[in-house]
Amino acid sequence: MDGMGTMDSYFTSRRHRQLREHVRGFAELEVRPRIPAMEESRTTAHGISRLIAQQGWLGATIPESYGGMGAGHLAKTIIIEELSRVSGAMGAMLQASQLGVAKIVHFGNDEQKKTWLPAVAAGRCLPTIAVTEHESGGHVLGMAASALRDGDDYVLNGRKVYVGNSHVGDLHGVIVRTGPGSKGLTAFLVESDRPGFSLGEQQPAMGLHGFSFGELIFDNCRVPAANRLGAEGDGLSVAYSSSVLYGRANLTAVSLGIHQALVEETTRFCAERERYGKPLHALANVKIKLGQMQSRLMTARLAAYHAVHLLDQGVDCDAELMNAKVVNVESALDSARNAMEIHAAAGLFTNRPIERFLRDAHHIFAPAGTSDVQLLRLAEVALGTAKGSWSERLSELVRKEPPSPVQDVSLAEGRWGQVPPQRTHCVGKA
Ligand SMILES: Cc1cc2nc3c(=O)[nH]c(=O)nc-3n(C[C@H](O)[C@H](O)[C@H](O)COP(=O)(O)OP(=O)(O)OC[C@H]3O[C@@H](n4cnc5c(N)ncnc54)[C@H](O)[C@@H]3O)c2cc1C
Repeated sequence: MDGMGTMDSYFTSRRHRQLREHVRGFAELEVRPRIPAMEESRTTAHGISRLIAQQGWLGATIPESYGGMGAGHLAKTIIIEELSRVSGAMGAMLQASQLGVAKIVHFGNDEQKKTWLPAVAAGRCLPTIAVTEHESGGHVLGMAASALRDGDDYVLNGRKVYVGNSHVGDLHGVIVRTGPGSKGLTAFLVESDRPGFSLGEQQPAMGLHGFSFGELIFDNCRVPAANRLGAEGDGLSVAYSSSVLYGRANLTAVSLGIHQALVEETTRFCAERERYGKPLHALANVKIKLGQMQSRLMTARLAAYHAVHLLDQGVDCDAELMNAKVVNVESALDSARNAMEIHAAAGLFTNRPIERFLRDAHHIFAPAGTSDVQLLRLAEVALGTAKGSWSERLSELVRKEPPSPVQDVSLAEGRWGQVPPQRTHCVGKA
């Protein structure tokens, strides 16, 4: 019993539900047994990250014509959610590279798409998106890392921090300065084996053990101009479209999976633990807290699925995506606190997963905009001062796409849940 009820079937098709079952089975079989080792080592879990990538799930939104699943954003949400239900770290790992797909799908030219998307879809190449710097954070225009044109190349210098999949990624999508102001940012694809590129030492974090979100260092790193994504000056659009259209939805899905796990684990605990000769949930205050958790989870799921359903329909949904992120992050944190209270002392020990869920849930607050930033943007929606809509621009962003055999992702018969065929182009580490 996972408390999901009929909510799921309102937005999902039979194929979404099969996909959920498939990912859940994989997560239980392959991911759960590895969690103790990930928690102990507190560093990048290379093996399981690669195994997850090989399932073809990085290609959830990559068109079938490039070897992807062509399954859409709701399917992507379900995949991330189910991995995060077992391991927030592996949900975060998967979403970070799915997020790295956005910039190639939206801004890659035909050659770049043909080169990289099949390799990503097959799980042989893990992409990232690197925007954040120590001095800029959410203030993207404050970045200082730079690229200077030198003949047919660009030379990159600077550092990026908190980059999801930093230590497992093969192809970094890096936004740097090529000039002043908002038109002075440009995006590049940088392979992880390029001379002049290195990784900072991985710092242990509070949670998401197994996932890396560390530092990328560019020291006179020479990149061919053919690796530039879009035109000079497109960098801000690359960053924002990735964050708005993929980042918010993906992190929403991680929060949702952790939230689901919190409810399931706490319900189990209540049934198993006896107080006053009865199960713990016989206490009215405990039962009410459980009810609050279930209510938050249902509302969070509704917000999450509704937003990505609209995104799949190609309609304006920037506000729904922001709302889904803030509702999911905040309500998962509130439920984590309730879960800890219900567990009392038992929740503090690492032989139970509750403290891990609490730690992991905190990591989803900052990326793709903190809750404060989402609320500021939502206030602009209320005031009628919001600046444009990325979801409305989506069809314009993907207009160069060759027609995919899948026209309606919600109905099409594709290769969901199966590993895409291997292509000859191979990059990155084995
Ligand atoms: C798990 C994880 C994964 C990540 N993955 C990536 C990734 O793949 N690529 C990448 O480039 N980065 C990534 N990041 C970085 C993430 O995007 C930043 O943490 C985020 O942009 C916020 O930056 P910051 O943490 O420096 O906080 P800051 O932006 O410095 O914010 C500090 C405080 O100021 C507030 N604040 C900031 N701006 C405003 C504003 N305009 N108005 C009002 N209040 C404001 C914030 O709400 C916050 O409370 C990741 C971070 C985490 C934790």
